[in-house]
Amino acid sequence: MAQTAQPSETERKLQTENAELKKRNAELEKRNAEWVEQNRKLQQELNKALTALACARKTSGTSSKPPSSDIVKARAQEEGGPQPKRKIGAQPGHPRHARAPFPPEQLNAVRNHRLRACPQCGGALRHTGVKAVIQQAELVLVGK
Ligand SMILES: [Zn+2]
Repeated sequence: MAQTAQPSETERKLQTENAELKKRNAELEKRNAEWVEQNRKLQQELNKALTALACARKTSGTSSKPPSSDIVKARAQEEGGPQPKRKIGAQPGHPRHARAPFPPEQLNAVRNHRLRACPQCGGALRHTGVKAVIQQAELVLVGK
C-alpha cells in the first residue's frame, strides 16, 4: 500500500515561500501594468504639449500659415470684452487623436538621440528630463 508521505520541513518551507513569491509577483505585475498605463498617458500628454508648442511657435513668418492666423494680442484687447480663455491644444472632453505607441515587444531597435545645442539658436541646453518618443515602422515585404 502506498504511503502518503508527509511533506518534509524543507518542502513546507519551499511551498510557503513559493506562495509568497507568487503573491509578490502578482502585485509587481499589477504595479508594472499601472506604470505602463501611466507612462502611456504621460507620453500622450507630452505629444500633445509638443504639438501645441510647435503650433504656438509657428507664425506666417516661419511657416506657410497665412498672416491672418498670426496671434495678435493687441487686437484682442482693442476689441474689449471678456475673451473666453481656452487652453492651447485639445479642449477637455475632446477625443484624443494620438496613435498608441508600439509595445516594447514589437520594437527591434531603440535609439537615443540627444540634442547638443538648441536647434533654433545653437545655444546651450539645460537638462529638463523631458523626452520625446518618435516611433517609426518599416514595411517589409514578406516572402511569397
Ligand atoms: Zn535656442
